[in-house]
Amino acid sequence: MSSLLSDANQRLEKALRYVTIDEDVATRLHYPKASLMVSIPVRMDNGSLRVFQGYRVRYDDSRGPTKGGVRFHPSVSMDEVQSLAFWMTFKCAVLNLPFGGAKGGITLNPKELSKFELERLTRGYVDAIADFIGPDIDIPAPDVYTNQMVMGWMMDQYSIIQRKITPAVVTGKPISMGGSLGRETATAMGAFFVMQRALPQLGQSPQDTTVAVQGFGNAGAIIAELLYHAGYKVVAVSDSKGGIYAPQGLDIPSVRHIKEANRQLKAVYCAASVCNDVEHDVITNEQLLELDVDVLVPAALENQITAENADRIKAKYIFEVANGPITSSADTMLEERGIEVFPDILVNAGGVTVSYFEWVQNRSGFYWPLEEVNNRLEKSMTVETENIWAIARDLKVSLRTAAYVHALNRLDAAIKAKGTRDYYMN
Ligand code: GLU
Repeated sequence: MSSLLSDANQRLEKALRYVTIDEDVATRLHYPKASLMVSIPVRMDNGSLRVFQGYRVRYDDSRGPTKGGVRFHPSVSMDEVQSLAFWMTFKCAVLNLPFGGAKGGITLNPKELSKFELERLTRGYVDAIADFIGPDIDIPAPDVYTNQMVMGWMMDQYSIIQRKITPAVVTGKPISMGGSLGRETATAMGAFFVMQRALPQLGQSPQDTTVAVQGFGNAGAIIAELLYHAGYKVVAVSDSKGGIYAPQGLDIPSVRHIKEANRQLKAVYCAASVCNDVEHDVITNEQLLELDVDVLVPAALENQITAENADRIKAKYIFEVANGPITSSADTMLEERGIEVFPDILVNAGGVTVSYFEWVQNRSGFYWPLEEVNNRLEKSMTVETENIWAIARDLKVSLRTAAYVHALNRLDAAIKAKGTRDYYMN
């Protein structure tokens, strides 16, 4: 079995020790249901032809049509997409969404393509996977380096192929094309609700809590700003090029403003405003992870905290806004050192939860106000945080194992409902 997926499966193995689920269910969950790999030829602006590799994996659909984002990134591979689809399966079960798990991606550096090329590539990807997706089969959404615009192209292309407007095939669309209010901020908002529920309980009040956020994309930048406005001291942020650190706290709205204007945090380093307003040090991504802060929020890519650096992590609490930022061996090391990890399949599930709301709105044709979206999101995130907390306490396991146990019980019910060895042989 490949490396990322086998690492993901280790979490499953660990959780299986604490549940009494049918053996058939465990066996099923070790394998992705369907994995598609496609080649997408794209006419480039200079007239040349380039062929890109694309993937879509439906991991498990026992609980409903599969759901998960599409990422555009140089490190996309079948192994990565399968692992991310595995995580989506558990994430949707944790939040009790009527979905299975899926993921997709194209191997490329999106920063090297023009907007025209990106559009042709996105439409080519949909042409290639059109028979594999659908509102009742598998529903893509945004992920790393894909956004509303890309989702709009995807839904448009699918609708052209089907010869009917099909908004429910993709979520995270522009509002004007059937997107939901609150979807863009949902991942960060969901994480914020988990933190608001957990941190006071752990004796951390906002003004006494320092936070470092790794990653300044859709999730990282918004969570940093939500925490800043709630009174937390956000002392460090970073993007793929590096980070900034100010022990007295950063003015996140200004940092966001400069990053948006210049497309990189590096511009903050010595661009007039923030540099003059707030003293700060320039740090690397590795240094950010090892800062002496109360809360660490990895919000970039997977495999950031590994056996190599886990013993240098000083944060008391880690909230995984990225998918898979901690490897399973690092998990054990952090647990031994008493660092509490709030797992990705709970913390970043706000995105897919509001995707579910978007899908429901598309199918009913009735659109909700922002307040309703956020209230429902808050309720779901809070209830599941409490459920996972209770399981962790009862079984005396980590929050990650508790989250897997919670998801496994729900997956078990769905898989068992169609019959198992016990049913047929007794
Ligand atoms: N890409 C997001 C995730 O990893 C959202 C998936 C979705 O909305 O379907 O959870």
